[in-house]
Parts: sequence; C-alpha cells; structure tokens
Amino acid sequence: MHYDVAIIGGGPAGSTAAAMLAKAGRSVVVIEREKFPRFHIGESLLPFSMDAFERLGILKKIQDAGFVVKHGAEICSGCGEKETRFYFKDGFRSRRATAFQVTRSEFDKILLDHARECGALVREETIVTSLDLSAGSTSLSIASADGSPETITAGYVIDCSGRNSVIGSHLGLKESYPSLQKFAVYAHFEDAQIPEGVDGTLTRMVRGEDHWFWIIPLSSTKLSIGVVMDTEKYKSLRSTPEQVLERFIRDQPLMQSRLLGSRRVTKVYASGDYSYRNRTLHGDRWLMAGDAAGFIDPVFSSGVFLAILGGEKAAEAIDAALRSPREARRLFARYERHLVKVMGLYLKFVLAWYRKEFVETVLAPREFFEVVPAVNAVLAGNMGKSFSLRWRLWLFQLIVRLQRIVPICPRLTLVPRS
Ligand SMILES: Cc1cc2nc3c(=O)[nH]c(=O)nc-3n(C[C@H](O)[C@H](O)[C@H](O)COP(=O)(O)OP(=O)(O)OC[C@H]3O[C@@H](n4cnc5c(N)ncnc54)[C@H](O)[C@@H]3O)c2cc1C
Repeated sequence: MHYDVAIIGGGPAGSTAAAMLAKAGRSVVVIEREKFPRFHIGESLLPFSMDAFERLGILKKIQDAGFVVKHGAEICSGCGEKETRFYFKDGFRSRRATAFQVTRSEFDKILLDHARECGALVREETIVTSLDLSAGSTSLSIASADGSPETITAGYVIDCSGRNSVIGSHLGLKESYPSLQKFAVYAHFEDAQIPEGVDGTLTRMVRGEDHWFWIIPLSSTKLSIGVVMDTEKYKSLRSTPEQVLERFIRDQPLMQSRLLGSRRVTKVYASGDYSYRNRTLHGDRWLMAGDAAGFIDPVFSSGVFLAILGGEKAAEAIDAALRSPREARRLFARYERHLVKVMGLYLKFVLAWYRKEFVETVLAPREFFEVVPAVNAVLAGNMGKSFSLRWRLWLFQLIVRLQRIVPICPRLTLVPRS
C-alpha cells in the first residue's frame, strides 16, 4: 500500500499524470470517486493538446473514437449584427489546424483506461476522505464503494480532484475571483440542424449583454448548449436550471434558429461560483494540477488544455524529484511558476471577454500586423512564449483599451432587436 505517487482524481489531469509516471516506471495509484464513464462538462478541446496526446501515445485512440474534428470557433453578437470566425489554420504560426469536440464520458474513459494500460493502478468508486501531508510522509485515507476505509501512503501526491480541490480545501488555500462569480446551466440537444463541412465543427459563442451561450457540436445531430451568467443574476431569477435555460433560449433568436426542431436529451445541469485559484500549487510532497490548481471561466475552452498541461508538467516534476529528492523544492517551484503564467494569460482574456469593448474589437477583425492571428493562436493553446506573439498581443490589448474611449470598431448593443 505504498506508492511512489498517489493521484487524487482520474479526470484529464489525473490520467495524464498517471500515464506519464507509469510510463517512466513509477508505481502510481489513481483514486477516483466515480465509476467511468460518467457525465462531465468541458467538451471543446484546443489544438495545442494534440501534441500532448501524441507524447502520451493516445492520439490514435482519440482519433478512432470518432469525435467531431474541430476547426475553430465563431463569436456572434447577441444583437445578431456581427459574427466572426477563427479557423485554427489561420492562427499565428499555426502548427495544428484542428482539435476535437468530445463527449467527456467517452473521452475521459479513454484517458483513464490508457493510464491503466500504461501500468497505473486505478481504483474507481473510491473516495479520498482525508489526508496527512506532514513533512516526510503523505498518507491518504480512502473509502471504497462498499464503505471499507483504508490508508495508503505515497512519496508524493498530485491533487487532480477537479473543482473539488481536495488539498486546496483541506489547507484553506482557495481564493475566488470576485468579478468572475458566474453560473452556468447546460444540456445536450438531439436532432439539431448542424451545417455540413468545416463550419459545422466550430464552437459557437453568442455574447449577450449580461450572459453568453456556447454551442458545441458533439456529432452531426447533437449539440451541447449552455448559458453563463452572473451568479447574482441566476439567483434573482428564482427559477430552476431547466426554466432558466429555456427562458434564455426563448429570448435569443440566434439560439432559437440554431435549435429549431431539436429536443433536449439530458437533464439540465448547473455549475456555480466556478472561478478560483489557490495561494500556492505545491508543498514539500504534493502538487496540484488541472481544476484542482485553479479554474478560470470556460469561455475560451482552456480547461482540458490546462488540465493536460498541468498533469504532464506535474508528472515531469515528480519524476525528476524522485530521481533527485534534494531538487524537489526547486522543481516544484518551477512547476508552479510555469502554470501560474499560462493560467494568467487565459485569465487576461477571460476578464476581457466580459468587457463590451473586447467583444466589439474581436467582432471587427482587421488584418494588420497579424494581430488577429496572434489572438487566434492564444485561443488555440499557444502559450505566448515568443516575443513576436507577445508584442502582437500587447498591440491587441492597446486597441481594446482605445475602443473603450473612441469607437475604432462599431459599437454594439448585444441585445436582440425586438
Ligand atoms: C460550465 C463549464 C463549461 C466548460 N467547458 C469547457 C470546454 O468547453 N472546454 C474545456 O476545455 N474545458 C471546459 N470546462 C472546464 C473543464 O470541465 C475542466 O477544466 C476539466 O474537466 C478539468 O479536468 P481535471 O482533470 O482537472 O478535473 P475533472 O475533469 O473535474 O476530474 C476530477 C476528478 O476527480 C474526482 N474526484 C473529486 N474529488 C475526489 C475525491 N475526494 N476522491 C477521489 N476522486 C475525486 C472526480 O470524480 C473527477 O472525476 C468547462 C467547465 C465548466 C464548469
């Protein structure tokens, strides 16, 4: 019952870390509360994860699963006046032109099964109930479905427990972003009229005045639909998630036309208060990865990309620490710096998304200095390391700031015409 590494949670972050460490010859146990396949939201992936799938040796399995191949995204103004499409092939120095739109129950199972095949011990229907992270040892108290409690020990622990954030909650490290307290309601719809060809594969975002919708094609007839609003707004409606989703769709002509003739085939799910970070992402013998480390609003589909990136980097750091334990502190601090930087980049974009001048600017793309392709590249998962990308992003931010004062691009109401 002693392992090199214990991983809490078998979502994309946990299974990525487990597969990497098992491939490196480490003894790994993944403790997962649910029995897979299980429903999960977060269906639109980014092209930069494709490289990681290749490194994990799982790209072919994902391709063979028949998920929709995603070519980009479309942003529409809620007033119906403007729309713009980003194709990943047009991103700044684009290397990957596609990603996938995935049904998470199937996708997560492929990843978790792969971790098992690589040699990780996966214990489903088993929950981590408490931890002891005192220096020198880490132990986890776990309980399996039949309720029998056990204790396991490990050299290192990676917390990949998603928004449950087991270690963050245990140590009181979680902090929320006050301006990003949002609420989402969502469901799957069948028999939708989805355009054929490349445009039928895009993630669509419809930006209303105080809310936005996502439309994600999961097959040639199935759509994932969700609407995101301020938590306060949701509370003020005093309605069930079903009533809220129906009401927002009814009030938005663009959504009505996209959903014409379709029917809801799942219950309406809801997620609230979901943007937060942790004051630190590591301790002497533990790291956090994926949503357990921090969660940023899903508008740019960055969640799974960050989870896989975090899982991979955490595995690298722990593998190196197992080789040279004295280096652990430095390796873990470097891991944290890297992750915080990438999450910070997405956070900037997410905060901007909720400002009207940002939406007005992206809906009026002008081809100069390749600024639009640079934004496109970041939204595909390019982490903005090169100077040539960074100065274009600065220029873009400058244009957005100017738009606040002088209308360089047309002003939009974002409210549907009555
Ligand atoms: C409304 C909404 C829309 C989103 N849309 C997108 C999108 O389009 N694209 C995108 O990339 N991302 C999206 N995301 C984000 C995405 O869902 C997450 O970022 C992603 O699932 C994170 O993966 P993870 O492995 O960190 O966590 P998870 O996928 O949540 O996995 C964590 C696992 O840990 C297990 N667990 C939790 N607690 C315990 C415990 N105590 N013991 C044992 N196991 C435990 C859980 O059962 C779960 O399986 C969205 C999120 C929300 C809320």
